[in-house]
Amino acid sequence: MFEKILIANRGEIALRIQRACREMGIRTVVVHSEADTEAKYVKLADESVCIGPAPARESYLNMAAIISAAEVTDSEAIHPGYGFLSENADFAERVERSGFVFIGPHPENIRLMGDKVSAKQAMEKAGVPCVPGSEGALPEDAKEIVRIARKIGYPVIIKAAGGGGGRGMRVVHTEAALLNAVNMTRSEAQAAFSNPMVYMERYLENPRHIEIQVLTDSHKNVLYLGERDCSMQRRHQKIIEEAPAPEMTEKQRVRIGERCVDACRKIGYRGAGTFEFLYEDGEFYFIEMNTRIQVEHPVTEMVTGIDLVQEQIRVAAGEKLRLRQKDITVRGHAIECRINAEDPYKFTPSPGRITSYHPPGGPGIRVDSHIYAGYAVPPNYDSMVGKVIAYGATRDQAIRRMRIALSEMAIEGILTNLPLHRELLHDSRFLRGGTSIHYLEQKLAQENRQKGK
Ligand code: ADP
Repeated sequence: MFEKILIANRGEIALRIQRACREMGIRTVVVHSEADTEAKYVKLADESVCIGPAPARESYLNMAAIISAAEVTDSEAIHPGYGFLSENADFAERVERSGFVFIGPHPENIRLMGDKVSAKQAMEKAGVPCVPGSEGALPEDAKEIVRIARKIGYPVIIKAAGGGGGRGMRVVHTEAALLNAVNMTRSEAQAAFSNPMVYMERYLENPRHIEIQVLTDSHKNVLYLGERDCSMQRRHQKIIEEAPAPEMTEKQRVRIGERCVDACRKIGYRGAGTFEFLYEDGEFYFIEMNTRIQVEHPVTEMVTGIDLVQEQIRVAAGEKLRLRQKDITVRGHAIECRINAEDPYKFTPSPGRITSYHPPGGPGIRVDSHIYAGYAVPPNYDSMVGKVIAYGATRDQAIRRMRIALSEMAIEGILTNLPLHRELLHDSRFLRGGTSIHYLEQKLAQENRQKGK
């Protein structure tokens, strides 16, 4: 096992990884930007290295600075967390070429899955069901694009091959709007991801977002750890996730889980990963694979009892998975609310100093957050400041525990989306379970109309 790991991330996930390392007796090095010098998790780490100024491209995205931090601290492995460089194949390659272990998949797997067009092609070949769409990237020829859209049937969605974080997508309802939409998505994709390649899919009107967690070692052992339902989204960004997915049967879980396991074997995948699907009328449609730990991993940890971050570290160190598929059971229900520093109704970011903070507690409550009273949320990064996870024997118990947790939780000095979560945990459609990915947006739009905005 490693003696020292460098954590190339910030915020709650840096703290989460640090906790996993500590439990395993591994020393930690945290790299940070000038904006995060005062963060408590930076001080809690065994060592810390400032790698640059606040803007992410000069610090958390600065590969050379991170690798030299690993060199000067004698770290053996680098955990990239999520976001930043976690799905950057060039970074993974540079880490390994510099003699460190990258805690994640092989660079070629990251590259394959990072291009959504090649990812979809690989998955189709591996027998994973995909959203009907263009075969590969869209051609230049306008007539051909029109033909492809007619064949798929409207509405269609134009998506950037290099897209991520809910960006680089455009829905098209009519042929008249098609070519303009393709061109706009192309130029946005070029600007945002330096890759103008786009592809087309049928736009599913009422799907749920259901994803499968997998875990793979370097000895051909592959496990699926059940599913998560992440349908509560705003602007393609998840805000509440749960495991298991409401109404999912064991038969469905096994069927889709085994497809994902097969696909991992076929591409020689290593580490933790997530197959994301849209789910409509009992069918799964692959949209993308995330080759890293995800924000919502705790709900899977709560219902399976498996520490995913520790498993990532173990398999990166070359260890065999100690569990077999038959040992994996999904027990109880877990819900996660992402707490963002933002206006709960206008959704504008609300960075600044937290004047008082009361975290919730009690049976079944887990809080993954790096904040404290006196902490200043920097304006430079993602607005998520933590996650509250509620576990219960049943979905109903998890919901009741989450309501109590949200009512106890107080964060003052900045605005947060706590009021929105409190409301959603009483929403009749959410309580019923199984809402579509469009539900939250529709609800918010309706409320705005009622308020006459
Ligand atoms: P990203 O990498 O940016 O997260 P995804 O491909 O995972 O992009 O899609 C993110 C979200 O966009 C999905 O969860 C869903 O809400 C929506 N979406 C993507 N593809 C489709 C589609 N074919 N039909 C309907 N909604 C879609």
